[in-house]
Amino acid sequence: MSSRPKVVVIGAGAFGGWTALALQRQGADVTLLDGWGPGHGRSSSGGETRIIRASYGPRRLYTRMAARALYLWRQHDTDWGHGCLQTTGALWMSGADDRFGQESAAALRDEGLPVEVVSVGDAADRWPQVSFTGITSVLFEPEAGVLSARRACAAVVDRFVADGGTYRMAPVAAPRQLEVVTFDDGTTLEADAIVYACGPWLGALFPDVIGPRITATRQVVHYFGTPPGDTSFASPHLPVWLEVGDVVMYGFPADAQRGFKIADDTSGRPFDPSSDPRVITSDDIDPVRAYLAARFPGLSNAPWISGEVCQYEASPDADFIIDTHPESSKVWIVGGGSGHGFKMGPAIGELMADAVLGDSAPDPAFSLHRFAGGHAATAKWSPGASSS
Ligand SMILES: Cc1cc2nc3c(=O)[nH]c(=O)nc-3n(C[C@H](O)[C@H](O)[C@H](O)COP(=O)(O)OP(=O)(O)OC[C@H]3O[C@@H](n4cnc5c(N)ncnc54)[C@H](O)[C@@H]3O)c2cc1C
Repeated sequence: MSSRPKVVVIGAGAFGGWTALALQRQGADVTLLDGWGPGHGRSSSGGETRIIRASYGPRRLYTRMAARALYLWRQHDTDWGHGCLQTTGALWMSGADDRFGQESAAALRDEGLPVEVVSVGDAADRWPQVSFTGITSVLFEPEAGVLSARRACAAVVDRFVADGGTYRMAPVAAPRQLEVVTFDDGTTLEADAIVYACGPWLGALFPDVIGPRITATRQVVHYFGTPPGDTSFASPHLPVWLEVGDVVMYGFPADAQRGFKIADDTSGRPFDPSSDPRVITSDDIDPVRAYLAARFPGLSNAPWISGEVCQYEASPDADFIIDTHPESSKVWIVGGGSGHGFKMGPAIGELMADAVLGDSAPDPAFSLHRFAGGHAATAKWSPGASSS
């Protein structure tokens, strides 16, 4: 590569935006392209909020990565003054099997992150707005919190441009010549390295290499209204919360004037991120309302205010995909956030800059080689036990 390598990054979501920024900070000449714009409503990084947490059960690779990401989010958020990170803590509730909590607590301690193992009785005193029926173990992760999703994506691209990077809204075609970027209008762009960070669109761009290894699944998030004047469902009274067990649900304190956000983490049906309608029906709402009434009895009559249909871009084992294309070491593919990638953006950016500029290789867990021998089976256990 030249002394100032020219890199094109395609996709300005959580993965591509941070990658472009990190590459530029390491001295590369970077052009960032996106067909619709950072954090747009059909991207996986769109919408209002995402959870940042470092509890990952036995998957310490992700705990370490989340710890690094948290450090970088804090640093950038302070420098930029955007207020994209809100520390609320995370309340983890486990059903009969508490291995996820135990293994997470050990990993957090080893990473130097604070963690509290809370008895169910103490949890019921501390968070009286929650019913702990059926919960056998509770963990509190004080440094976890909420990230502003689309706002943070825009902030990253703004900073990238302010620091001298080139950003263009331009749809890129599936590569005809692998080492050349081809636009939809037939024009081309050459570079020393090309990074495809195209989220749920990666499978269509690389049908042979990625194809079904990244599946977009329909996911719905809901906002319910809290009673007037009632702050018990907002922080600091209620943190981010996640339940893992027979159901995997998660939610956010009602802070952003949008209401109490709640979602079912179960993978939905395959979804076309470009063209499928994002309509929410009572089939989506009713089961969530029933859960809400049981777990948060004070919200049993809460009105449904609004919702968003988004998509996970899920790999078969829920591990990220970060690798070069098998036919070119100049072409990188980064994606497969699998419902838990947003928080990792700054750490992925750093990792990608090191990888593209040849300073270090990504962890083999992210490699395409893990799919060798055919399409990997869907894992029963996801890296997060919950996405998010
Ligand atoms: C409902 C929901 C809840 C989630 N909750 C959490 C959470 O709490 N915590 C967490 O850490 N993660 C969470 N995630 C996961 C996380 O948001 C995603 O893994 C992450 O945002 C993926 O980012 P990305 O950059 O890979 O993809 P995207 O954000 O989809 O970005 C890809 C970009 O590439 C562009 N693009 C695609 N094709 C082309 C092309 N041909 N030419 C030009 N541009 C192109 C697109 O326009 C898009 O902007 C959640 C996801 C969803 C959907």
